Amino acid sequence: MKTPPYNLQEEKMVLDPEKIKKDFPILNRKIHGKPLVYLDNAATTQKPLAVIEAIHHYYLNENSNIHRGVHTLSEQATLAYEGAREKIRAFIGAKETSEIIFVRGATEGINLIAQTYGRKFIGSGDEIVISTLEHHSNIVPWQILCEQVGAKLRVIPINDKGELLIEDLKKIINAKTKLMGITHVSNALGTIVPLKEIIKIAHEQNIPVVVDGAQAIPHLKVNVQELDADFYLFSGHKVYGPTGIGVVYGKKNFLEIMPPYQGGGDMISSVTFEKTEYNILPFKFEAGTPHIAGAIGLGVALDYLKTLDLEKVALYENELLSYALEKSSEMADLQIIGQSVDRAGVISFNLAQLHAHDVGTVLDRHGIAIRAGHHCAMPLMKRLGLEATCRVSFAVYNTKEDVDSLFKALQKTLEVLG
Ligand code: PLP
Repeated sequence: MKTPPYNLQEEKMVLDPEKIKKDFPILNRKIHGKPLVYLDNAATTQKPLAVIEAIHHYYLNENSNIHRGVHTLSEQATLAYEGAREKIRAFIGAKETSEIIFVRGATEGINLIAQTYGRKFIGSGDEIVISTLEHHSNIVPWQILCEQVGAKLRVIPINDKGELLIEDLKKIINAKTKLMGITHVSNALGTIVPLKEIIKIAHEQNIPVVVDGAQAIPHLKVNVQELDADFYLFSGHKVYGPTGIGVVYGKKNFLEIMPPYQGGGDMISSVTFEKTEYNILPFKFEAGTPHIAGAIGLGVALDYLKTLDLEKVALYENELLSYALEKSSEMADLQIIGQSVDRAGVISFNLAQLHAHDVGTVLDRHGIAIRAGHHCAMPLMKRLGLEATCRVSFAVYNTKEDVDSLFKALQKTLEVLG
């Protein structure tokens, strides 16, 4: 049997976008006869061959259930799954692997925290603070919790550029504030939130902070200990990994006092009809058979990013962003939505008076995939006085040629629809 292709060499590569592109087989596709230009990375990223091969290898050679087996396959699958957990710990700078919980994605991660920490420690009259920039995944679970326990949601406002108003945050938090849920990077505008400062303000009032890192992990070097985040979560599929797998990081002292999320196999240490003792961390939060291949694939995706070097990736993506912003400033009919000084990977815009969906549909005929709509951020759209925007979001395999193709196609779109 071949050695599992689960551990990519840690040799740092020179960041060569054309070479990187070749690592992603799907990017060879043609759409409507045109080469695919994939600019919908904030929705999901494409997967490098290394990730696809790791999943393939796992199902071909090691498929088995984990933790409980005494046979070879189970041991190998367990090693690979737990190895992935360790890779994630190292990638986000957590102290212990027991602080890394596998979930289905960012959405499930937030629901987990709301229904465990929230149900236990937040009660009637308490307040939860979120921001105007949040994705629905970081709004609705808190609203459900508020309905269940009689708490109230408070919202940090933004300015017209799409930046959080930190002075207002200081006025919003008070003795009733029991938790803050905040995005690290806005999926709709790309705004990078000054997280360290916000967490410090919250901690001065003993308020725990849950960070939605879904859009940050692919673009920024994240260290949860340096940030002092109490919880940090993200989805695997937005960082070159498979769908159906994600991560909740939680400080051990919080995870230990939280009740389990779901009941079932693997999350117990003993069960009688009278009483169940729960398993140790992190297994207490992982009921049932997890997405083993997904966790392994995510581990390899993070290895892949490490070989590229996240700092270089961030610099490169910034260069792409500046290039695209410069091009958009040359197009009179294009209105950029969101002008945050600190931004990552995303440009939201509207073209003349055209509906975003029409623009997206015409671009697709040119082989260009972008997002059009409210980006699961309807309250943010309302604040901006919009129903929808077009959104271009970058990944490490995008190139300046992709940006050129986009602007050529936008010009054609104007000619056709404008
Ligand atoms: N949070 C942010 C900022 C997002 O952009 C998304 C997805 O777009 C999510 C949460 C939800 O991620 P998932 O659908 O993978 O659970």
